[in-house]
Amino acid sequence: MPNNNRTRMIAGNWKMNETYSEGVKLAQDLSNELKANPVDGVDVVVCPPAIDIKGVSGVIEFDHAPFALGAQNCYWEESGAYTGETAPNMLVDAGCTYCIIGHSERRGYFGETDEDVSKKAKALIAHDIVPILCCGESLEVREAGTHVSFVVAQIKAALSGVEIADGSKLVIAYEPIWAIGTGKTATADDAQEVCGAIRGALNDIYGADKADAIRVLYGGSAKPGNVAGFLSQPDVDGALVGGASLKAPDFAAMVEKAGE
Ligand code: PEP
Repeated sequence: MPNNNRTRMIAGNWKMNETYSEGVKLAQDLSNELKANPVDGVDVVVCPPAIDIKGVSGVIEFDHAPFALGAQNCYWEESGAYTGETAPNMLVDAGCTYCIIGHSERRGYFGETDEDVSKKAKALIAHDIVPILCCGESLEVREAGTHVSFVVAQIKAALSGVEIADGSKLVIAYEPIWAIGTGKTATADDAQEVCGAIRGALNDIYGADKADAIRVLYGGSAKPGNVAGFLSQPDVDGALVGGASLKAPDFAAMVEKAGE
């Protein structure tokens, strides 16, 4: 159990994995795992690819699956000639209450900037979708020893002009790029160093009352065997999970650890 007022969160980022039918099956399997071993006091979020969202939404609605639905990306406009994009109101209509933004893969492969992330955050918040805003440094920055100031600057830029009614309306995910999908994890102390600095930056932006309620997650090769170490840190409120979220028993085991 956390020794603060923040409810822990375990969020799964399926990335570009699972066809529609595979996604429905994975959501059903996860629902069954979580129902067989109910865990109180943990917010569980599943972020499938866009094409799977409606199917997973059906599993939540009809099987009463005990998790919330998130998207992996969105655009900031309401509608119009933006081929291939998805607007926040479309996510709302499909049942999403969370959306990942600023993931390092979107920044690296698709050129997403802090300015884009800020526009996406504002658009999502206007539709009452909670952004899961990702930040994190490359190996080069980490080796130069400037990772803390790099991540703090990233957070301040991405949250520029982003207003929140309270801390429950925003989630931050610290994901060092060198630890994503590589099997190389940051240590729990590494995660705390940066997550603590992120909370300091949130304090500067929003003041202590709001900042204290914002969840800060760790992500990067998190799995059942190492998640407890991260969760034991005072400023780590959960995990954003890639690879391990594709195996229902592993993801459910991480939810269970978060409930301990
Ligand atoms: C991610 O990309 O959000 C992630 C944390 O991936 P993985 O757990 O596979 O490192």
